[in-house]
Amino acid sequence: MKPTSIKNVTIREYRNIHGWIQRHYGKAFSCEHCNTSVGTNFEWALKKGCLYECNIDNYIQLCKSCHVKYDRTTETNKKISESLRYRVRKKESYLKSSQTQKGRPVPIERRIKISNALKGRPSGAGKAVILYKDRTSISFPTISMASKTLGIGVTSMTNALNNRSRSCGGYKIQYLSSLEKRKY
Ligand SMILES: [Zn+2]
Repeated sequence: MKPTSIKNVTIREYRNIHGWIQRHYGKAFSCEHCNTSVGTNFEWALKKGCLYECNIDNYIQLCKSCHVKYDRTTETNKKISESLRYRVRKKESYLKSSQTQKGRPVPIERRIKISNALKGRPSGAGKAVILYKDRTSISFPTISMASKTLGIGVTSMTNALNNRSRSCGGYKIQYLSSLEKRKY
């Protein structure tokens, strides 16, 4: 990359250069100002008056607090806040695009994905059901509880619930909610 002053460096260049330093020299491990290597909060800092370029002599290792004092000039502060703003903007535009998606027909690939995700989950899971046999009825808060208690498979219950079969394990079955609907 071409040498760039702190004033003109783009966020991309800034990130690239820090990536380059990390790749070649690893993480900063000491502070050249307070001469300590205790702790882990060390960063590579651009030396004052130096350009951003792939030359390690242009950088020094500093601890976080020295780094802040050393080069958080108005320029870098601006860069950092810009970078943060950029992130926020990305999120906003994502939200906006998801808004425009509203009401649009769902593409077939997505529909397949959704239906695959729902597979294995019986439709009506979590709904209360009522089962009948010989003029007695028994209700359960969920299909799976009915299945466990009566020893009837969930699939055979959902088949009966969706009128794919007439009964399950000798029981007639329906959703409790459909019973209530009929009452009113
Ligand atoms: Zn320090």
